[in-house]
Amino acid sequence: MASIQAIEQTSVHQIQSGQVIVDHNSVVKELVENSLDAGSTSIEVRFRNHGLEAIEVIDNGTGIAPEDFESVALKHHTSKLRSYDDLENLDTFGFRGEALASLCALSQLYVITAREVDRPRGTRLDFEVSGRLKNTSTVATPRGTKVVVEKIFHNLPVRKKELEKNIKREYSKVLTLLQAYACISTGVRFTVSNQMPKGTKTTSFTTPGSAATKDNIIKVFGSKSLRDLVALDLKFEMQATTSGLSTQDGGSCRAVKVEGHISRPVTGEGRSAPDRQMFYVNSRPCGLPQVAKIFNEVYKAFNISQSPFVFANLIMDTNSYDVNVSPDKRTILLHDQGALLESLRVSLMELFESHEQTVPQTSV
Ligand code: ADP
Ligand code: MG
Repeated sequence: MASIQAIEQTSVHQIQSGQVIVDHNSVVKELVENSLDAGSTSIEVRFRNHGLEAIEVIDNGTGIAPEDFESVALKHHTSKLRSYDDLENLDTFGFRGEALASLCALSQLYVITAREVDRPRGTRLDFEVSGRLKNTSTVATPRGTKVVVEKIFHNLPVRKKELEKNIKREYSKVLTLLQAYACISTGVRFTVSNQMPKGTKTTSFTTPGSAATKDNIIKVFGSKSLRDLVALDLKFEMQATTSGLSTQDGGSCRAVKVEGHISRPVTGEGRSAPDRQMFYVNSRPCGLPQVAKIFNEVYKAFNISQSPFVFANLIMDTNSYDVNVSPDKRTILLHDQGALLESLRVSLMELFESHEQTVPQTSV
């Protein structure tokens, strides 16, 4: 018998799923993004025992149609993307059709869903490890979808042990992530709570679902947090420097806007650590370490001892960045990043300099 053999399908699925769902953050991120994609105006995230027992995400979105029940948790089955070309004009968070399939492989997952026309009856869906629909039953439920993920990583003992060992840190990381979604999602009420086995339930935070990000920030971080912030409203035209990336009509300029809030760069108004910094591209929360570095560097030129609170949403053409870089879509590749960073540095300098109460410090 030849020594090179195809890996059996269930094992392939489990191996790949472990790369899509790596920790609490990826579970929550995928489920919350699904709720946002479904047009929800209310999203509740409930942890049981900090998520070790279960993570539940409950929304009031569109619900799932009965004809989709069979394919909802099958790998690479999605309602959001039909072909590779659609990636350019993507306006949803999801597109890979991998999250629910991966969660079926790594946890015990079930879904309860009802569309407006189905109310007050909904359906509970249970799945096999492969994501195939195993069972359906009728339940009473409001409109929307509830996804329950129990016993995450029960079949990956090393990862489960690590999670248990670091659960406090993991929980704090997942709250930071949820704060980022809650602050940017205007018109969506967020409620995040944790229920401990001995019965104590704590609400970690709520947002009002109002139309302004400011209201969300105040609710999440307290009213004091906004007092010392100045509005970010930067606009710049960037010259595209990379060949082959110019727009189809021959132009090579890109307009970028940066909207949000940042601490006033006066001593005492910033924070002692860069712990409250949220970055987005077209309202998609993401890690932008290079952009964060510029914000911190420019701020330090005015306030040497502190770091700013930053809430920055970069608004640009959907074809000027790529979200399909890593399975978790946290990494975003910005075309012409060098030019963008330089323009950002200049605009930020101008903003801080123009600000009346800004007193530049001479470095010591
Ligand atoms: P993707 O988001 O990339 O499409 P997922 O595995 O996360 O892949 O979800 C598969 C499909 O299930 C989605 O395309 C969507 O049609 C449906 N779905 C998942 N979660 C929800 C939800 N909360 N509300 C409505 N539909 C949902
Ligand atoms: Mg999804």
